[in-house]
Amino acid sequence: MIPKVNRRTKIVATVGPASESADNLARLIRAGVDVFRLNFSHGTAQNHAKVAARIRKQAAIAGRYVGILADLQGPKIRISNFSNGFVELDPGDRFRLDLNLADDAGDKNAVGLNYEALCSSVFRGDTLLLDDGRIRLRVDDVETTSVNCTVIIGGILSSRKGINRMGGGLAAPALTTKDIADIDSLAQVQPDFVAVSFVSNAEDIFQTQQLLKQHQLEPAIIAKIERAEVVADEDTLNSILSASFGVMVARGDLGVEVGDAQLIGIQKDLITRARKMDRVVITATQMMESMISNSMPTRAEVFDVANAVLDGTDAVMLSAETAVGKYPVEVVSTMSETAMGAERHPVSRNSRYRMEKQFSDAQEAIAMSAIYAANHYANVRGIACLTESGTTPLLMSRLSSGLPIFALSQHSETLQRLSMCRGVIPLFFDASVFDPDSVEPNAIEFLRDGGFLTPGDSILLTKGAVMGQPGSTNIMKIIPVS
Ligand code: PGA
Ligand code: MN
Repeated sequence: MIPKVNRRTKIVATVGPASESADNLARLIRAGVDVFRLNFSHGTAQNHAKVAARIRKQAAIAGRYVGILADLQGPKIRISNFSNGFVELDPGDRFRLDLNLADDAGDKNAVGLNYEALCSSVFRGDTLLLDDGRIRLRVDDVETTSVNCTVIIGGILSSRKGINRMGGGLAAPALTTKDIADIDSLAQVQPDFVAVSFVSNAEDIFQTQQLLKQHQLEPAIIAKIERAEVVADEDTLNSILSASFGVMVARGDLGVEVGDAQLIGIQKDLITRARKMDRVVITATQMMESMISNSMPTRAEVFDVANAVLDGTDAVMLSAETAVGKYPVEVVSTMSETAMGAERHPVSRNSRYRMEKQFSDAQEAIAMSAIYAANHYANVRGIACLTESGTTPLLMSRLSSGLPIFALSQHSETLQRLSMCRGVIPLFFDASVFDPDSVEPNAIEFLRDGGFLTPGDSILLTKGAVMGQPGSTNIMKIIPVS
């Protein structure tokens, strides 16, 4: 049975030790997870494949389309290990990053680092940020194989934490040897989405697609926007968006590189830009961070999630909250309620309808008109979209509306992808088993039986004159539900 989900914003939850058992996955699906993220920065490819199988099984039991997002680690630059696992740094301490230090020989004075270009990429006076900016170092001088720093903001620093340079510029090529090996393992996962980390240009996306294709995989690609250089260059950003199915506002790394004050505007711009270009967008990182250890979020976190929803994001993402946190199920429920709260505000329901735009094909014109008609016709309870490729519901969901977009398709790849699109409810409906004249009444009966419509409602329906042909949507009707 399909639950009556009133929430439009999608929830992406990262899987980890706190959530990967079959029981926990089932509970998370019930709480409202739409897409699970397998984070290839942690765990083994083998375990990810096992978890993926478990997710598919629990989603099938729940009768829901739940997406799987494989998130490649990418060229994140990390410090090596401390012999004790961690050190405590105090402001004013001297601390050295040393390319020649053994991998596990870190201590209070220095830590190793496996990034050959370090000494040519940082300069005296730079600020280096470790562990998502929790620790801050000032560069005092740069030698041939080491960088001497002073601790500006101290705290506990543990092994293998990430390192960023304020302003960006610590960059390695996008796909690492590990990423390529992980892509090779993805045939076992069959992901619906693959996220590419630290994307620097569209070429990174094409290369990933090519490698995936060698394994007959064609997942939707999500470009993680987490480099200062990328948001600083409009052409690069646009070409990355064009090449991808969607983007992630990867606030963890991006925020560290550009600073939180800049990030506020960047989040809004990225969301608007993605939607304008018919791309999906995920807002990620530290959304309900305090719920890693508390059963309630702070009000600031509630408002952060709400703000992303008001900005128009398709999805909000949980990271450590569901991967290693104490309250994985509660955080999903809380996020869900918060999103629904924000969706009640008129900003979430009204649209600017792309008044200035010339549409290039019938499908797009129908999709846009459908939202206009549905938003303005009092009796319409939703939009039923008979779809092959999922393009029409995707286009529709680029405009704001309070009405559900029921995507009816017999293609599971299409339905899986739509799990990321705001306002779209993916439902299995095989129109090809009906003769052409009875498809519409059957579709309406299907939605009525599912509890989505009641007699007296009207539904706006879109389809192609020739069913079964992707990209052919050219018909829109308003039909009363009997
Ligand atoms: P990560 O990506 O969790 O893989 O680092 C998201 C981010 O940087 O915000
Ligand atoms: Mn990141």
